[in-house]
Amino acid sequence: MNKKIVITGATKGIGRAIAEKFGAGGFDLALCARTEKDLKELQSAFKTHHAKFIIQKCDVSNKEDLKNFADTVNKEFGAVDVLVNNAGVFIPGEIRKEEDGILETLIETNLYSAYRLSRWMLPRMIKNRHGHIFNICSVASIFAYPNGGSYSISKFAMLGLSKVLREELKQFNIKVTSIIPGATYTDSWAGSGLPESRFIKAEDIGKLVWDVYHLSPSATVEELLIRPIEGDI
Ligand code: NAP
Repeated sequence: MNKKIVITGATKGIGRAIAEKFGAGGFDLALCARTEKDLKELQSAFKTHHAKFIIQKCDVSNKEDLKNFADTVNKEFGAVDVLVNNAGVFIPGEIRKEEDGILETLIETNLYSAYRLSRWMLPRMIKNRHGHIFNICSVASIFAYPNGGSYSISKFAMLGLSKVLREELKQFNIKVTSIIPGATYTDSWAGSGLPESRFIKAEDIGKLVWDVYHLSPSATVEELLIRPIEGDI
């Protein structure tokens, strides 16, 4: 039986790169995002070489939508081996200037989604005493920078969630890894005017997650910090 991975926000960028790496490695995939046309494109891209995949439209900031996705995964896949809490949005700003509601949007999308989906996936992982959760954090999880605003708050909280899960879940043999990337070339950066060579590649993150997952059962990577060679942008 194939191993199974769930990835939120998998039509583009880092989530897509992780999906491609694990898909090529023979995993069954459960993937979600919001945009119908991108999901259709994803479906045809993955159709050819995967034993089983679930592709579902889901806004992870919407509790009901996310519960539907979790229910589908639990029903179709049973226990999953890997959960990647990746979906996230970046809205630049400063706390004193940003519009009302930005913090709420970022916390719902970047934090509550990971908290909720982990809770809904965990009972089966705990029963099997097996599983690995990856939380895609950010360098914005470890320091504040100009125009980081509420995004940085949400990412600090995501790293906090990840640390708490790590402590709570080691007794059940479940691994938890916080991936902490610096600037990674995805659609979010496409209009920046900076050359791609200034960034980490999304494929690098896909490879990292794959390699960390494949360490020996007795080892776990708690936090992994990766930056562009020339440093932060
Ligand atoms: P991206 O290229 O913009 O892709 C984001 C993916 O998530 C898309 O598939 C998008 O599809 C989906 N998504 C966004 N909001 C969603 C929602 N509410 N519900 C479901 N899916 C949603 O982003 P990325 O740069 O790869 O970032 C992925 C993660 O890495 C984020 O958590 C981000 O904070 C983190 N990160 C990125 C960087 C960077 O420099 N790129 C650095 C550090 C950390 P739809 O829009 O169709 O929903």
